[in-house]
Amino acid sequence: MSEALQAVWWVLALLPVAAFSGWLIGRRGAERSGGQRVSRLSSSYFRGLNFLLNEQPDKAIEVFLQIAEVDKDTVETHFALGNLFRRRGEVDRAIRIHQNLIERPHLSEDQRIQAVLELGEDFMRAGLLDRAEGLFADLVKVHGGVAPKALRHLISIYQLERDWPKAIEHARQYEAATGEPMGKLLAQFHCELVEIARTSGDVEQARTHLRAAYDADSHSARAGIISGRMALAEGDDAAAIRAFERVARHDVDYLPEVLQSLLQACARTGERGRLRAFLAEMIERFPGVTPMLALARLIEHDDGVDAARQFLTRQLRRRPSVRGQKALIDLGLDESAETSRDTLRLLGELSEQLVAGEAAYRCGHCGFGARAHHWQCPSCKRWDTIKPVHGAFGE
Ligand SMILES: [Zn+2]
Repeated sequence: MSEALQAVWWVLALLPVAAFSGWLIGRRGAERSGGQRVSRLSSSYFRGLNFLLNEQPDKAIEVFLQIAEVDKDTVETHFALGNLFRRRGEVDRAIRIHQNLIERPHLSEDQRIQAVLELGEDFMRAGLLDRAEGLFADLVKVHGGVAPKALRHLISIYQLERDWPKAIEHARQYEAATGEPMGKLLAQFHCELVEIARTSGDVEQARTHLRAAYDADSHSARAGIISGRMALAEGDDAAAIRAFERVARHDVDYLPEVLQSLLQACARTGERGRLRAFLAEMIERFPGVTPMLALARLIEHDDGVDAARQFLTRQLRRRPSVRGQKALIDLGLDESAETSRDTLRLLGELSEQLVAGEAAYRCGHCGFGARAHHWQCPSCKRWDTIKPVHGAFGE
């Protein structure tokens, strides 16, 4: 934190206590004549301050000092202070300020709604999800469509609580109130329910939720992957292959997620030609090495080591990659003399170590790196933002 910003916090810490009241009582008489004008001025300053504070702490200090001199009772002042305390992590103070605001008799309807929203956010920050949920739910009940912000918060809360039916209900309500399409999110929630049903062995229930996921988002990659896995579980390799191919064709980023299962299903059905054609198609569309390595293994099996080596060398010139290099080294291991085999083995181990520590997946929204795929980013909580990392050290 910059020094200037720390100074703002320091000023704030003193404001509501001694400095604010004592100083104010002393100054009030002198300011009375210009009071109204100054009050209007300070209101607008504070609205601006809500936006400014994070970026320009020096200006914030200046404004704060001016306001503190003249104006204690405006609603905006309290909103700004409450907001600041919450951001600063002093949730108790924020809660007190917003509760005081709500109890004021002369608030406008809009101000009251805003105060309840702020208090709800305080509760969320404090981890008091039940109390936040109660506030937001009351807002939605009373104000219906005029409280989309409350609906948004409720959707976040139900996600945290993994209460998917309620998350679905409120996402639908939000979509109806705002017109903002929620299909992708709804499909994720339905897929969570599919997974739960599958874990408990309820195939019928799983199918129902899967249909709902497709209804919400007909292109849902996750629903496609689950369909493929369900088909595999039932021994329907042909249906599984269709589902996995559709997922990869629709969003090629999910190819690494389905390729292993696809290879196994094709091995059982004996459709090597189809598989080779599909992999060749994927190599053109997918920037990573996964389809290239899989096709190299097929070529090695069908046409021999030399053909595989030629193929890999050609591909690696187009897209250098440590994993591809490792595959090429492995191809050379079998037929080399004992001395060069040791060198190759060492090179292979080095390649493995080079990629071992790298994140295989990264969130496109917040940059969170992960070794495994997550549908919801563990860091920023967004859905469908975690994708394979490409490049020499990645996928
Ligand atoms: Zn993220």
